[in-house]
Amino acid sequence: MTTLRILIWFVVAAAAMRGAVWLAERPGTLTAEWQGWRLDTNVGVVVIVVVVLILLGVAAWLLWRWIAGAPGALLEGWGDSRRRRGYRELTQGLAAVAAGDAAEAQKHARKAEQLLAEPALTLLLSAQAAQLTGDRDGARRAFDAMLKDEQMAFLGLRGLIGQSLRDGDQMTALGYAERAFALRPQTPWVVHSLFDMQAQTGHWKAAQDTLDAGMRRKVVAADKGRALKALLLVERSREAERAGRDTDAQALAREAFSLAPERIVATGRLAELQIKAGDAKRAAKTLERGWAVAPHPDLADLYLKAAGESDPLKRIGIVRRLAACNPDDIESHLALAKASLDAGLWGEARRQLETAGGTSPPVRVCRLMAEVEERANVDQAKVHEWLARAAIAPADRSWSCTACGAHHETWRSVCESCSAFGTLQWRAPGTYGQILPPDLQAELRGTTALPSTTGA
Ligand SMILES: [Zn+2]
Repeated sequence: MTTLRILIWFVVAAAAMRGAVWLAERPGTLTAEWQGWRLDTNVGVVVIVVVVLILLGVAAWLLWRWIAGAPGALLEGWGDSRRRRGYRELTQGLAAVAAGDAAEAQKHARKAEQLLAEPALTLLLSAQAAQLTGDRDGARRAFDAMLKDEQMAFLGLRGLIGQSLRDGDQMTALGYAERAFALRPQTPWVVHSLFDMQAQTGHWKAAQDTLDAGMRRKVVAADKGRALKALLLVERSREAERAGRDTDAQALAREAFSLAPERIVATGRLAELQIKAGDAKRAAKTLERGWAVAPHPDLADLYLKAAGESDPLKRIGIVRRLAACNPDDIESHLALAKASLDAGLWGEARRQLETAGGTSPPVRVCRLMAEVEERANVDQAKVHEWLARAAIAPADRSWSCTACGAHHETWRSVCESCSAFGTLQWRAPGTYGQILPPDLQAELRGTTALPSTTGA
């Protein structure tokens, strides 16, 4: 490159020298006459004057450009420093929010707002600072303003959902969650919180649609989704029955049972409707299939109801048929013990209860034992002994919430204590599970106080 430049310079210099020599070899004069003025000069001087004039013109043009451009460049530099200061305020404000320093956060938020002409950026800080100071209206205004910006709308909705839930206004929260879902249907917290709200407010069909969308996008695990869907179908079946649409009710219950036969309520619901429709044989088949995977005293009662038998001895035979579907489960022994007790077969009742209780009989076994001794009327001391044992016996199976651990007398789809949907399970206390990973739950609880999203 350099060699090429030197070469060019060399050629130019040579050409200039040749030109000068050429001019010198051909001397001549130039004469100009104008308005009685006369100028005599030679060609060399004219060439030099022309070159000087061109150089002066270029210099003047450069000077003009510099003068004209200066204020803009100056303003630009000033704007840059303003923006830099704005960003610094924003950063410090966010740090103050993270540190929980409300006053400091608000101070930086105000300064950042003045310095930065980008409301979208400062709104989040303003909203969080307002939340920290407990200024609910301020926070709501900031979140509302965020909805106008395409980039920030989703974040604004998240803030508004959390705020509405804290205010106990679930219907407003639901409206915001629907908008958030329309914006980003693939975001897990949106799917989970929208589903929770729809289920908690009894919008079963809408909840089912959300669940289906979540399963399609793999935001909800297939197995969890299947069980939750079955419970929604159970609720929809109840709703249809209340509206007098028994055929629809049975179709929904059948779908629920085929999805999750391990769900006691799905089995019970279908059997109930089959008995109601006069189809006792089908009801018995349904109950036998359900008993094999998830036995429950209510299912045994329905089985006896389907059989329509009133003779106590014959009822034992019927229960035996059901128990044979799951012979080792404690519920089978308890059902047989109860039927034997009703028939006055104390020995058989005792034998079933002893098998059911094993080495540490739970509360239900102790109570039934006391009842057997009471009704057999042999030894009053034994009655007292069993009642005393019942008081300290290990806890029994019951409808307990896997999210909060609360116990319920009967099954319901929404836990009365923590509002989670589908978390009630028939089991002994001790094992709890949750649908969301713990870090995501903590995040949701910490920033927007959404309810824990749990399932079973
Ligand atoms: Zn609960």
